[in-house]
Amino acid sequence: MKAVVVNSASKANIEIVEKEIRPLQAGEALVDVEYCGVCHTDLHVAGGDFGDVQGRVLGHEGIGVVSQIADDVTSLKVGDRVSIAWMYHACGRCEYCTTGRETFCRNVQNAGYSVDGGMAEQSIVVADYAVKVPDGLDPAQASSITCAGVTTYKAIKVADVKPGETVIIYGCGGLGNLAIQYAKHVFNAHVIAVDLNDDKLELAKESGADLTINPSTEGDAADIVQEKFGGAHAAVVTAVSKVAFNSAVNAVRACGKVVAVGLPSETMDLNIPRLVLDGIEVVGSLVGTRKDLEEAFQFGAEGLVVPVVHKRCLHEVQDIFEEMEQGKIQGRMVIDFKNKDC
Ligand SMILES: [Zn+2]
Ligand SMILES: [Zn+2]
Repeated sequence: MKAVVVNSASKANIEIVEKEIRPLQAGEALVDVEYCGVCHTDLHVAGGDFGDVQGRVLGHEGIGVVSQIADDVTSLKVGDRVSIAWMYHACGRCEYCTTGRETFCRNVQNAGYSVDGGMAEQSIVVADYAVKVPDGLDPAQASSITCAGVTTYKAIKVADVKPGETVIIYGCGGLGNLAIQYAKHVFNAHVIAVDLNDDKLELAKESGADLTINPSTEGDAADIVQEKFGGAHAAVVTAVSKVAFNSAVNAVRACGKVVAVGLPSETMDLNIPRLVLDGIEVVGSLVGTRKDLEEAFQFGAEGLVVPVVHKRCLHEVQDIFEEMEQGKIQGRMVIDFKNKDC
């Protein structure tokens, strides 16, 4: 089978190789991959930002159909459509796993990083950790929900936004666009979208943003939001710049929550009096649990959230990585493993 693996000597730190899939072990299922999205996290993994994983099969936004199960598997059957997600496997026994916080398990395994992922024609999943894709959800769109969708759905849950409240979303790329849709159409919030790119803001508006702000032409979003609304109830930061994180702290009202999702390798400023006197909370949110993904999929199947995906051929994968690095991508690029004409 063909697979996209990390190779720091190759273009965009990745190459397409021919690879033998290993036999299934107890508890596992084999998945014939249909689609796998390309995520900014893949760039970090390929670039060695989280450690050296040469030869690892990338991809944690995989969707495919189960073609084989190990003898002891009861949670999946052949023909089920499932996800290959960043939350690949956790211990199931620790304090995080047993209290609904399994993404923070200290022994978690991540697809496309600590184990081989879904950017390949075939992939192996731990059956109990692969989430079924509901009927009525397009598999290419599901691939986007597997990471960007569940991440932003969870972030808005963590932000604790109530219907009618105001949430400001920083960054309107692949993550931000879905954050806007979940915030608007699932949580019934008033949504403000912030990005430096007018095209992304245009898409944000179409996706449900009530107000868009481009700080490069309109000034700091925090000033605008404080003046117009007295501050947002919550901020979700998907942007990869500390400028956005700093603005978010200033954009929320007293007792507001700032949820960090983007991963700039920088340090944000935190004004301690602002934190204490206004009771601001700053919290990180990491992907989502299996239950979160199940819910995020269901809202997609109901048509409340529609990921913007573009199907691309496997042989274009290095170009896609470069386009993403350069910030040229609108919506999500999804590698099509079904199209044999590619
Ligand atoms: Zn991702
Ligand atoms: Zn655990």
